[in-house]
Amino acid sequence: MATNRTFTMLKPDAVEKGHIGAILEKISASGFRIVALKLTQMTKADAQAFYAIHSERPFYGELVEYMTRGPIVAAVLEKDNAVEDFRTLIGATNPADAAEGTIRKLYAASIGENAVHGSDSDENAAIEGAFHFSGRDMF
Ligand code: UDP
Ligand code: MG
Repeated sequence: MATNRTFTMLKPDAVEKGHIGAILEKISASGFRIVALKLTQMTKADAQAFYAIHSERPFYGELVEYMTRGPIVAAVLEKDNAVEDFRTLIGATNPADAAEGTIRKLYAASIGENAVHGSDSDENAAIEGAFHFSGRDMF
């Protein structure tokens, strides 16, 4: 995957609250092109693997429960400087610290249920995109 791509998930809380359309609109209006997109549900094993880096953290069990409780929207996005610009668009992990107008400020309930995922590096964007999509489902 080229380094102008990032990976996102609209997490179960955002889907449950009916925010898929509004969040995708904000992502598109911010200059990101949708490369791949699907509604899917992670299994417990999926979520444990996806968040393996956090396996020693106290919130890991809750995070896996949350991320598997309902469907998510997974997407690969493209834009110059995609990883950094998308992290700016979503805002801080804790919505209480997120800047005005960011997706987490607008739609996240708490540091745990924070509406969206955004990759933190080009390397992880490629790994996370490949976790959810085969090459033939990226356009
Ligand atoms: N998380 C949590 N409690 C914390 C920190 C993180 O429940 O104290 C959850 C939250 O859903 C977050 C995810 O774990 O989005 C991954 O954490 P990370 O530090 O990678 O934050 P992110 O990269 O998503 O901003
Ligand atoms: Mg992270």
